[in-house]
Amino acid sequence: MGIHVLDHPLLHETMARLRDRDTPCDDFRMLAYRISLLLTLEGTRDLPSVEGTVETPLETAAVRRLSARVVAVPVLRAGLGMLGAFLDLVPSAQVGYFGLERDEATAVARCYYEKVPADLSDAFVFLLDPMLATGGSAAMAAEGLRERRAGRVRFLSIVAAPEGVARLVEAAPGAEIFTAALDRGLDEQKYILPGLGDFGDRLYCT
Ligand code: URA
Repeated sequence: MGIHVLDHPLLHETMARLRDRDTPCDDFRMLAYRISLLLTLEGTRDLPSVEGTVETPLETAAVRRLSARVVAVPVLRAGLGMLGAFLDLVPSAQVGYFGLERDEATAVARCYYEKVPADLSDAFVFLLDPMLATGGSAAMAAEGLRERRAGRVRFLSIVAAPEGVARLVEAAPGAEIFTAALDRGLDEQKYILPGLGDFGDRLYCT
């Protein structure tokens, strides 16, 4: 498995504002959108495309068009904060959903909803989940994708913990992780340190 930790001054500036506890939720949503754009760009860098032509107002231009089947699968609810950016860059993508929540006491993931295309064997699948903490949800989602024969899986997260990366590597050895930050570890409640707190709460002002 490859892990790609993005490194760009504009990303670092945006991450600094996203992590800041004083950032209000409307700004948080906009910053998460911008980081998701950068993650999407990086995660889709090697998607296949085909040569073609279009007529400009002046002459014929050689162009390239995306030729891949792309499926985005946000993990509810926090992953929805990344979906808009993904679809703005890949408007032809299909969308599936995994509803996973972790028990606050045990931090064990539970699936309460799934609506994902049945056959993913020819697709590039992008799991969207901003916080790769214990990796329990990611591993469960990866298992759901494997049942649908997904072969090319990319996991886009905004902050990852080493524990989550290790768990996902074990569960889905072929997947690739793209993250904006690889943090130090987890606290007793399984929050990422230094992290940014509860992503869903900050996104939805709850
Ligand atoms: N989910 C979050 O929203 N934040 C964390 O730090 C870990 C999991």
